[in-house]
Amino acid sequence: MGLNPMICIQCPMGCSLQVETDQERGIKITGNRCPKGEAYAIKEITSPTRTITTTVKVIGGDIRMVSVKTKQEISKGKIMDCMKQLQDISVPAPVHIGDIIITNIAETGVDVIATKEVHRP
Ligand code: SF4
Repeated sequence: MGLNPMICIQCPMGCSLQVETDQERGIKITGNRCPKGEAYAIKEITSPTRTITTTVKVIGGDIRMVSVKTKQEISKGKIMDCMKQLQDISVPAPVHIGDIIITNIAETGVDVIATKEVHRP
């Protein structure tokens, strides 16, 4: 049996969850004030995912970096691969909010999109 403390990040209440995993009884969650906390804890234990937000270099723009994010959450295990790929690229200005910066990053099936406008000077 394993006992895992975690904080639910689904709302500002930030409930302290205790997650017990037992081979026979499965997963038991306590400390949540609503069902979203249970769903969050189960996902964190079985298949954790995150949205990545970072910046990418811009060539010929009025600013040198553009903020970007993954369009959907990706597996936590792929975060480092994604960050390496994003560090190595640069995009030409102009860049518009919603432009696809990379398709299928790190073979996750998820695109990375711009979240800021970058104009040519
Ligand atoms: S368990 Fe419910 S109330 Fe508590 S932080 Fe998560 S979403 Fe908010």
